[in-house]
Amino acid sequence: MNVADSQAMAQALAPDYVLTARAEDADLFLINTCAIRRKSEEKVKSLLGSLRGLKKARPRLLIGVGGCVAQQEGKRLLAAAPHLDLVFGPRALPRLPELVARAGRGERPVDVELTTGMPEALCPTHPGRAQALVTIMQGCDNFCAFCVVPYVRGREESREPGAILREVAVFLAGGGLEVTLLGQNVNSYGRGLAEPVTFAQLLRSIAALPGLARLRFATSHPRDLSPELIALFGELPPLCEHLHLPVQSGSSRVLATMNRGYTREQYLERVAALRRACPDIALTTDLIVGFPGETDADFEDTLTLMQEAAFDGAYSFKYSPRPQTRAAGLPGQVSEEVKAARLARLQALQNELTLRSNSRLVGRVSEVLVEGASRRSPRELSGRLRTNQVVNFPGPPELAGRLATVELTEAHPHSLKGRWLEARSASWPLVA
Ligand code: SAH
Ligand code: SF4
Repeated sequence: MNVADSQAMAQALAPDYVLTARAEDADLFLINTCAIRRKSEEKVKSLLGSLRGLKKARPRLLIGVGGCVAQQEGKRLLAAAPHLDLVFGPRALPRLPELVARAGRGERPVDVELTTGMPEALCPTHPGRAQALVTIMQGCDNFCAFCVVPYVRGREESREPGAILREVAVFLAGGGLEVTLLGQNVNSYGRGLAEPVTFAQLLRSIAALPGLARLRFATSHPRDLSPELIALFGELPPLCEHLHLPVQSGSSRVLATMNRGYTREQYLERVAALRRACPDIALTTDLIVGFPGETDADFEDTLTLMQEAAFDGAYSFKYSPRPQTRAAGLPGQVSEEVKAARLARLQALQNELTLRSNSRLVGRVSEVLVEGASRRSPRELSGRLRTNQVVNFPGPPELAGRLATVELTEAHPHSLKGRWLEARSASWPLVA
């Protein structure tokens, strides 16, 4: 979501600014921020501090902080950093050009208004890209006890399906291949629209657009995962066989305190239904350790759930108390030491599970959407399977942005190695 927001910022400012790779060349330096855990907030503050020298060397430089930390801290950020020129929350994006102009006049504007209405003025385009991140909703009404999102991104609102379809159609007409739909809880998409539609209906209309090779979405709330949606896996050809379904904890007691709205058993039932609908589906999740009151037994429940669900991958976090959230004031806060020990055990288990799941793919011939040069070796390309695992393989740089057929040869804990067999270049346009 933050990547999509950063792309929208660049696009909103495009008539006046172009992206530059070197901070030293910049006339405008915007930091897009995340407030989900305290660590990201601290990183913003230290980055901001380190920009003091740059501002001295280039007094014309404008520095701005946007996103969720901006929303949370507002004008406190201006007071803490005299070299900061503007502060803007996630919903101020459509007003960004005007805010930058005001900053240029020395005004130091702060815009943290949680305005309602999806800003259609900012309908993004994705020129020259093979992959597009498409925002379909903003905000969140779930109020999970640990989470700051509803406070910093405001109430949930869905974007009109017509606008989403137009954005995707323009992207596909330009040769795009993969669309990822974004929202904090895509499963509740469509509530509150003048003509309500379900998320499953939206997926059907997008999947029917000509030229779409891959369709993904994030994030799904397990409580709202409908049988209608589950049935689409294995039914809609572009819909990738991967679902990110954050469980957070394997203990029903902890899940209740988290206000997640499902039990361990209900979660596992949905996993079973997904595997019945689509036996090859890859499942990934988010996990939090050390939520207030989490006992050793609760934590063991998380480990056994991970094994039962056989997750193909997981993002895992130490619980981080966030301002305004209910969990921050709960008794039974877990020590840093216990959180660290639990996280290490959990990650060791997940690495084992991921390696096991990657190993099962070795020997298969699969489609990879090539994203570009691999980070480790410039001679290798890196891309993803439909099931979302990263595959690295030697191949020509022209394959970037295209679909390639690759034989999977080796499994690693975080990726696979492969051998390029052929590109499906005849049927797919080349996208730089
Ligand atoms: N809307 C998504 C998640 C958005 S936040 C959903 O409901 O699934 C992404 C992940 O950050 C969450 O799934 C959770 O695992 C983690 N997270 C959120 N708040 C956190 C906190 N206070 N401490 C640690 N992890 C947190
Ligand atoms: Fe946060 Fe819960 Fe909303 Fe996800 S669903 S953004 S975890 S409040």
